[in-house]
Amino acid sequence: MVCIYCSSKTNVFNSRQSRQSFSTWRRRRCSKCSSLFTTIEKPNYNQSLLFKQSDNQMMPFSEEKLLISLVDSLKHRINYLEDAVSLKDTILKQLLSELHTSIITHSDIVNKTYSVLNRFDQAASTYYKAYFMN
Ligand SMILES: [Zn+2]
Repeated sequence: MVCIYCSSKTNVFNSRQSRQSFSTWRRRRCSKCSSLFTTIEKPNYNQSLLFKQSDNQMMPFSEEKLLISLVDSLKHRINYLEDAVSLKDTILKQLLSELHTSIITHSDIVNKTYSVLNRFDQAASTYYKAYFMN
């Protein structure tokens, strides 16, 4: 990876694998300008998973659509964006560990999202059910 400031070569000088999520945190230093920055390597779900719609049509999975539905359902909370990002990761981690497949159906995603939201915030799960589970 090149430097975000000057586009020169960088070196990793610190790295940690997360035990809670599928990610690796790295600290990089530019060999030219000595700037420091952080990268996080994580799965690209949009290019790894397929989404099977209710009419059985297949399309690439969209993490962004899941995130938007969560943001929408959590917008009454002060930290709705952080909550939505964290819950998106929880939902995907739980789904993939239960399904062991790269194909996620519409009912898989809405049922898991509803159940995770319901444990986290009942107003959010009620909103989600009304606007995204039909
Ligand atoms: Zn640089």
